[in-house]
Amino acid sequence: MSPDEQEHIEQFSLIQIYEHAIECYPDECCGLVYGNLVRECKNIQNELHAKDSVKYPRDASCGYTFLFDDLVFLNRNLVGDNPVRIIYHSHPDVGAYFSEEDHGRAVYNDTLIYPVDYLVIAVDKGKVSCARLFKFHNKEFIEIKKFAGYEEMIDKVS
Ligand SMILES: [Zn+2]
Repeated sequence: MSPDEQEHIEQFSLIQIYEHAIECYPDECCGLVYGNLVRECKNIQNELHAKDSVKYPRDASCGYTFLFDDLVFLNRNLVGDNPVRIIYHSHPDVGAYFSEEDHGRAVYNDTLIYPVDYLVIAVDKGKVSCARLFKFHNKEFIEIKKFAGYEEMIDKVS
């Protein structure tokens, strides 16, 4: 990602992503950044959990699964003019770390499934405190950027 692109996420898309995360709290939100746009996706984890809590022990407060339509969108938009470059999701009340679950979902056989970076948004008591961007490097995820919380971001753009 170029510095310009990062700057763009920082100032504009990030606010939309933060608002999506706040709206979904206390559940996790999930979505995609493609080109300069954000696709707010639907987290169907609660529906899966309600249907089969053995197979899907996590509800949406601590897990996310994209709606099939969103997955199709992701797969169709990995190449082209506006490729998906970030998958984001929120962590309600546990901090913006990259969990083992997140790693397992993003990687297959030590290979990144989607050629994207991962943004994790920390929502604490309904407020976004920060977000961290992770990149897959040498078989693990490293933090490449930390973003300020919602209120600080709003101050920056206003
Ligand atoms: Zn996570």
